[in-house]
Amino acid sequence: PNRTARRPIRALPPQLVNQIAAGEVVERPASVVKELLENSLDAGARRITIEVEQGGVRLIRVRDDGDGIAAADLPLAVSSHATSKLVDMADLERVVTLGFRGEALASIASVARLKLRSRTRGEEQGHELLGDGQGGFEGPQPTAHPEGTTVEMRDLFFNTPGRRKFLRTERTEFGHLETVVRRVGLSRDHVEIRLLHNGKPVFTLPAGEDQAVRERRVAALCGQAFLEESLHIEHSGAGLRLHGWVARPSFSRSQPDLQHFFVNGRMVRDRLVAHAIRQAYRDVLYGQRHPAYVLHLELDPALVDVNAHPQKHEVRFREQRLVHDFLFRTLHEVLAETRAGQDAGPAA
Ligand code: ADP
Ligand code: MG
Repeated sequence: PNRTARRPIRALPPQLVNQIAAGEVVERPASVVKELLENSLDAGARRITIEVEQGGVRLIRVRDDGDGIAAADLPLAVSSHATSKLVDMADLERVVTLGFRGEALASIASVARLKLRSRTRGEEQGHELLGDGQGGFEGPQPTAHPEGTTVEMRDLFFNTPGRRKFLRTERTEFGHLETVVRRVGLSRDHVEIRLLHNGKPVFTLPAGEDQAVRERRVAALCGQAFLEESLHIEHSGAGLRLHGWVARPSFSRSQPDLQHFFVNGRMVRDRLVAHAIRQAYRDVLYGQRHPAYVLHLELDPALVDVNAHPQKHEVRFREQRLVHDFLFRTLHEVLAETRAGQDAGPAA
């Protein structure tokens, strides 16, 4: 009695398929910005401007100076499971781009109005494609646009009221969005990133690969105090490289809110990583305190499986033991120095 009468199995219409996929990828304005930024970075952009209105619910416009999308490819860019980033299984086994699922634009286009404008280096003019958010598209038609791409998303979840209800206040949504922009900023020091909210500049992350620029970016995300209370790390071994900052134990937090870990430029939350770091801090951190860090791990892309999570937050390391031990040993050694420093302090 508590089940519906048997109904025939049917293939879902494409718009509904995309909306279901969007349920996994597009949670809020911040997730849209993350996907659009990743696309710009994958396209080799050096300058990215993000304009946002009403916390990103009303408008998100991301403009980049990357490779662009050819006119004929615009309709494919918004089709699901269509990507320029991998061709076969061998590519999937060693993904070097941030995107690879070919689902982001299709998902976004199914829950918001989307306008894509782009021009590749070879093309004489740009082209645009408009999505009405209901599965309909218009274009591509010619338009004026510099080399690069502008993606404009309007009225997030206007056609899915159930999901719209889960959005928080403008302030909260913008807070999430801003954090995503800063975090992405930490992963690519050579890209200038500008953020504007309701027409006002919020910040510009300056481009540059020298230490001063890196530090400014870290301070912008984690605060100047974090930077001052941190140890800089740069260590390679066994084909792995770890660099970044770890806070001294004295800067520990009551929440795990200052933990940023990147694997080959992708921000991830990973249990193995978290465990290795926690172990390394074990002797110097007491009670319920959490370590703070901004760390980048670089390794052969063939040694990480990034296809483990719809939002690509999680990864699987093929050599778990190796990665765990490398992280633990490197950090343990660095932190041991702080302890030695303390011991040699006032008491000596
Ligand atoms: P994915 O990034 O997984 O390939 P997306 O749906 O995010 O999937 O994007 C689909 C395709 O559209 C990409 O593979 C890329 O070819 C193209 N594309 C999207 N955004 C940009 C951009 N900013 N610059 C150049 N190409 C882009
Ligand atoms: Mg993408």
